[in-house]
Amino acid sequence: MKLERHKVKFDSELIKKYDKQIPRYTSYPPATEFTPNFTETDYRKAIARGNTRQSPLSLYFHIPFCEELCYYCGCNKIVTKLKDKVVPTYLDYLYKEIDSISPLIDKKRKVNQLHFGGGTPNYLNAPEIEDLWNKIHQHFTFDKEAEISLEVNPQYLDKNYILFLRNLGFNRISFGIQDFDPKVQKAVNRVQPEEMLFNVINWMREAGFESINVDLIYGLPYQTATSFRETVQKTIRLNPDRIALFNFAYLPSIIPAQKKLPSEALPPASEKLSMFQMTIEELEKGGYLFIGMDHFAKPNDELAVAQENGVLHRNFQGYTTKPESDLISFGLTSITMLHDVYVQNYKGLKEYYQAIDEGKFPINIGYELTPTDILHREVIKELMCNFRLNKRTIESKYNIDFDRYFASALEQLKSQEEDGLVTLLPEAIEINPSGRLLLRNIAYVFDTHTPRRKEQRFSRSI
Ligand code: SF4
Repeated sequence: MKLERHKVKFDSELIKKYDKQIPRYTSYPPATEFTPNFTETDYRKAIARGNTRQSPLSLYFHIPFCEELCYYCGCNKIVTKLKDKVVPTYLDYLYKEIDSISPLIDKKRKVNQLHFGGGTPNYLNAPEIEDLWNKIHQHFTFDKEAEISLEVNPQYLDKNYILFLRNLGFNRISFGIQDFDPKVQKAVNRVQPEEMLFNVINWMREAGFESINVDLIYGLPYQTATSFRETVQKTIRLNPDRIALFNFAYLPSIIPAQKKLPSEALPPASEKLSMFQMTIEELEKGGYLFIGMDHFAKPNDELAVAQENGVLHRNFQGYTTKPESDLISFGLTSITMLHDVYVQNYKGLKEYYQAIDEGKFPINIGYELTPTDILHREVIKELMCNFRLNKRTIESKYNIDFDRYFASALEQLKSQEEDGLVTLLPEAIEINPSGRLLLRNIAYVFDTHTPRRKEQRFSRSI
């Protein structure tokens, strides 16, 4: 495999220059554009359009509960130990949501991706997972090659549970390591000894999971570039198929749990940059390729192969090789992503249950994309996933003259070209190795929504 496409060049001066609050573009337009004006009727019509297109399906189920609070966590979760009380009720409502939405979806449409996320999906015990699994399979038809994945918390796993998941049909699994250092783990209230992490990954491998993915976070209390190097090296020894590396954003005014962190022990920005640089170098040395936006994968991983072939995609579940699926999500706070609409469910259990009790879809907000949005989304997706945009492909698909239509964006890209982030060719835009760490800044040039917003509530670009 040619590795050129995955090369990144770390340039701290450029990173500092382009460090600003920018969306992550997991959706375009970003979720800040979603509005309560979006209705159930809009959603029904969008599902019907998907039936006409016969788009394959990607399903997501959100399990919002966690046993303990990790102090860094900015996810939508409910921390409680009252499992017997909360789980049966939640599953009951989740099943009602499945019962109300699944009849609208043409049965001939096959599911090629299923994901359980959270919170903590393994908050559910084995019979509960199996029950939910059976419910889903009663309503949907699965492709034989479907990716069936879930996130787990290693603190609440044993070998039998892992075998159970694999035997049921899950073939991909992911979990958070964050940091191996016990001092860091204690400070963030997520204690998972090294032996536990090595056991868990060995059990996953023995069980035959096709893909094992782990997360790391840099920027947590007590981390230094030296201490984090050990974490990265131990992670490479664990040999996961994919590694996600997240930059910790300390936002205690928005995420109150973070007030429990020892703020005086947070590494300064310069140390964080060193950690970031060191991690990229170590992962490259360890045989991992940069996929983009915090993600690394082994060269034979299907994401790396798809990117090499210019056919990688991205949705709310992350990078994917499954093109143009309609992502339909169930459960609290979950986000549906169809060809031309985004829909987000309520974030509070009370509102979610109440809507279902009233016989409504538990929709909180949504967005219907215009043809212009769809065009801009494709440009952003191509650049962020495949690091190259073929202008002629876009021109023939959308019937535009690319250079004329995007004249202002191309003008803005000129300064990024001078900085070495991109190469502007007559027929293409290519992202150079130093631009691959600044994908969000490049995508931002094609964003017609965010620059108009007064309030910028996004994480920093690095
Ligand atoms: S990091 Fe995961 S396990 Fe920890 S509180 Fe957040 S969602 Fe729950």
